Amino acid sequence: MALLYTDTHAHLSLLDTRGLDSHALLGGLFKSGFGTIIDVSLESGDLAARIGAFSRYPAVRFASGLWPHEQVIRDRYRLVPILEGEINAAPPGMVCALGEFGLDHHRTGEQEQEDPTGERELMEMQLDLAQRLSLPVIIHSRDAPRETAGILAAYPAVRGLIHCFSYGPAEAGAFLDLGYYISFAGNLTYKNASHIRESCAMVPRDRLLLETDCPFLAPVPCRGKPAHPGMVEEVYKLAAELRHTDIHTLAEQIAGNTGTLFGLRTKGAAESGSL
Ligand SMILES: [Zn+2]
Repeated sequence: MALLYTDTHAHLSLLDTRGLDSHALLGGLFKSGFGTIIDVSLESGDLAARIGAFSRYPAVRFASGLWPHEQVIRDRYRLVPILEGEINAAPPGMVCALGEFGLDHHRTGEQEQEDPTGERELMEMQLDLAQRLSLPVIIHSRDAPRETAGILAAYPAVRGLIHCFSYGPAEAGAFLDLGYYISFAGNLTYKNASHIRESCAMVPRDRLLLETDCPFLAPVPCRGKPAHPGMVEEVYKLAAELRHTDIHTLAEQIAGNTGTLFGLRTKGAAESGSL
């Protein structure tokens, strides 16, 4: 039986800009039995176009959110209501999450986040929205584990995942305590990522998710190429090794977890956890 991989974080509309043929690629993957793909926003206002391009594949679902770019932070009072409007206007069942959004404190050199208060408020506004719309959230958190966990703790009714997890086991523990799922991407396979691999080994199996964040972060041995959802196989292989499990059991578990968190009926999930 073909493995039913799930990719919980892809930017499908970027594939063509990196020289890939997204429709040839997705057609081939789904024909070979690929499972669910969650297509995540890149910028505000792109939801309708993404649904138009990719809803022809029944296993693709959509998430929309506002990444903390400086311009978006500045324009938050205008953009968050637009986000709410585009989600409400989407065909029923298409949008399964709010995201990605969160905190990004990764800076090169001396540069600081220009407006940390605004960034925090943009995150809080979207957590409020998620609560109102009863949608799980896809959280981006880079170089800001404590601040991220502190904000999420104030929204105990909101469920979600920490995407492209880049922290160690202590931080993973803090997010797990808040009820969050942890999703690992291609950087799990990178040489300098032993702390991420340690985290992957310790996440309970019912809280683990796997993704590509394609076209970014192509896993080893594909590093340097634009990533696509099919490369998630490399992330599964390494995660199975780290967790001393077989890849079939792992794929079934991830499909089940995806179904549980996003409220989807997923192919390949174990009977019990598939809704
Ligand atoms: Zn992303």
